Amino acid sequence: MDICVWDKCNNKCLMCTNPDRPWPAWDGSFDYNYKSLIKRIEKSEEKIKTYDSIYLSGGEPTLHPDFLKFLKFISDRFQKQRIKLLTNGRKFLYNDFAQEVLNVTNNLDIELSIYGPNKKIHESVTRASGSFEQTIKGLENLLNYKKEGQLINVRFVITKLSYKYLEEFLKMMKKRFLLTDRIMLIFWEVEHQAVKNIKAIRITYNQVSPYLEKTYHLLKCFKEIRLYHFPLCTISEKFWSYVWRTLPEDGVIFKNSCNQCRYKKYCLGIPREYSEHMGIKEFKPIKNNFKIKETKDIYHPILTINKK
Ligand code: SF4
Repeated sequence: MDICVWDKCNNKCLMCTNPDRPWPAWDGSFDYNYKSLIKRIEKSEEKIKTYDSIYLSGGEPTLHPDFLKFLKFISDRFQKQRIKLLTNGRKFLYNDFAQEVLNVTNNLDIELSIYGPNKKIHESVTRASGSFEQTIKGLENLLNYKKEGQLINVRFVITKLSYKYLEEFLKMMKKRFLLTDRIMLIFWEVEHQAVKNIKAIRITYNQVSPYLEKTYHLLKCFKEIRLYHFPLCTISEKFWSYVWRTLPEDGVIFKNSCNQCRYKKYCLGIPREYSEHMGIKEFKPIKNNFKIKETKDIYHPILTINKK
């Protein structure tokens, strides 16, 4: 369940998957004040299953004037569901704010976005001066004050602006933020702002692959690394156990030749929007024979892989 807390943000990320403001919440309303948010939740509450996670997103949710009150409401109301906050992390630069949020509930994952190893790369994506320093300080605070049961995660979106810095980014994370619980390396999605800015950010899987290769020696240093939106044939097999199926069935396609691929049953598929804007030439059936140990998790199907 994705709850858009509101549509405002203090970053202007080139590949943001949100539409232009203002955009309506899931019930069609443009009103994001506290009372409207609560009414909206109460209307759709019965659709939320106990195994669902509640995603608080935006815009930038932490900038909402009643964010803390709303987070308290959500954590009281949904005690069985995991609460996940998607944020640019800038407001956590304030020690008090970071502690106040972490004090609300231990049932909380916070996912911050960092798009480069330094100010220059990160801010070429966010187009917001000072955003790198604030997000980095925010991450520092969250890791310092985090409590048992909470997860502090980092998302890195791979675009033309960032793909060459994957290794440098992971080296920076290793040096400064090794205690981060999970790092997600996310291939860009062709949606909304990303479509508008496609010339600046477009990159193919083939172009990303050699730079991803360079990160392999670092992956084991971290508690957890995940790769999102990667069809298996776009990366070498040693990365497969890091791959997660991240898109809904109607968000992906398979080529006819995918039927000859030995590993189709483990593959995410080709993101539909990507296929429409970037073509499908680079996806080729995998014919080699590997020994795969499966997980029982449909979203993370491969546990280990070995050559036969
Ligand atoms: S050929 Fe098709 S099924 Fe096989 S890995 Fe590539 S996209 Fe997936």
